[in-house]
Amino acid sequence: MDSDVKVFHIVFRDQKENPDGHEVNYSFTVHRSDAAEMRSFSLDFDTTCAAPSSWSFGFSYEKVPETGKISCSVTLSRKDSGEHILDVFALVTFLDVNGRVARSSESVCSGRIAAGDVKEGCISDNDAADLINQRLAVRISINISNCHRSIIRVL
Ligand SMILES: [Zn+2]
Repeated sequence: MDSDVKVFHIVFRDQKENPDGHEVNYSFTVHRSDAAEMRSFSLDFDTTCAAPSSWSFGFSYEKVPETGKISCSVTLSRKDSGEHILDVFALVTFLDVNGRVARSSESVCSGRIAAGDVKEGCISDNDAADLINQRLAVRISINISNCHRSIIRVL
């Protein structure tokens, strides 16, 4: 693996159950620096309900100050072998040190997903000079639905 790839320090994680699905949130900080930067991580999580599912979530972040470019790629893999089709999307938001949104949220990996499938998404900002010069928190919110609610409705 590339030795420039650093591992993120995850500062916050929580998981909640909504009436129609599950929401898993990760948040971590990206330091201000003039150097090019590339970081990545991958994490596993499960949802537990009438239609449980298992996931592996991968994220990588690349910053190139010379070009003012930030790009993020997200990979969401469904690891269980359930028969049910789920709906999923991931929201990526950049926040400033005061917790204010520094760049509007963008949805990636959205759509229906069967067991064993993988969804990949990418966010690329070619004019991120204002973001690059500040310390940021990145928040990723993974939303999974069409599991317990649909089963309750069918029954
Ligand atoms: Zn559920």
